[in-house]
Amino acid sequence: MIVTENFKYEDITGFKFGKLPFGKPKMFSHIYFIDGLLIDTGHSRMRKQIVAKTQNLGIEQIFITHHHEDHSGNIQVLRENFQCDIFASTLCCSIMKSPPKLSFVQYLLWGNRESQNDLLPKDDYIETNHFRFKIIPIPGHASDMVALYEENRQWLFSADLYVNSYIGYFLKDESIATQINSIKSILELEFKALLCSHNPQLINGKQKLRDKLSFLENFFSQVSILSEKGCSVDEIFKRLKLKEYHIIKFLSNGNLSKTNMIKSVIRDLKNQKPTFVN
Ligand SMILES: [Zn+2]
Repeated sequence: MIVTENFKYEDITGFKFGKLPFGKPKMFSHIYFIDGLLIDTGHSRMRKQIVAKTQNLGIEQIFITHHHEDHSGNIQVLRENFQCDIFASTLCCSIMKSPPKLSFVQYLLWGNRESQNDLLPKDDYIETNHFRFKIIPIPGHASDMVALYEENRQWLFSADLYVNSYIGYFLKDESIATQINSIKSILELEFKALLCSHNPQLINGKQKLRDKLSFLENFFSQVSILSEKGCSVDEIFKRLKLKEYHIIKFLSNGNLSKTNMIKSVIRDLKNQKPTFVN
């Protein structure tokens, strides 16, 4: 089943896309258009719909928040259609020259993306005729991920920093401690709308992000206590009565799993990543 919807929030148009071979999709991708700027390009499984929805927008520039395939899946086709500049953080530009291989489930759900050699690095601000967006690094979920913040309007385009107040699985390379620090730094900002790439929160956005912070901090502290007692990953999993998403873990060949969340805490403890205090 294919889902496409649009919504307006002040000067922003949000486009929501979802596709599952069978049944109603539960996970959606959003791209945002404001004053000539398109934020992210969605995934390639929805290419036809994204091209159709964007064809009359008059896109003048595109910004990519991070290299994941559900954000960078249609760069090529939109570049051809609009002949516009496409910006990303310096780190994202470098990763996109040779992006990491996708697991089967990522390929199945969201499809592949082409490597990109011509993205333009931008790390401070991106401006449109009427707005100015500060580019803020928010690593953790992806090392190159950034948020766009329009201070005067209090809009925060948060890429995948939020997604949900509860998170069921991590990619292999995610850092929970770095995510916690990124959320804390974003919570210092004044914003009213959390324009998440998967689950936008147009009211109470800040509270939703606080809820996610509490969830991650609790998870971190529960796993650290057990890990410091000498428990293995499997023991921690059982002691915390966690449930694995077996199909996702299997189809992603272990690239997406709840076990990865435990491993992330242990890795962060080993690397002395946590700089936060509970
Ligand atoms: Zn992502």
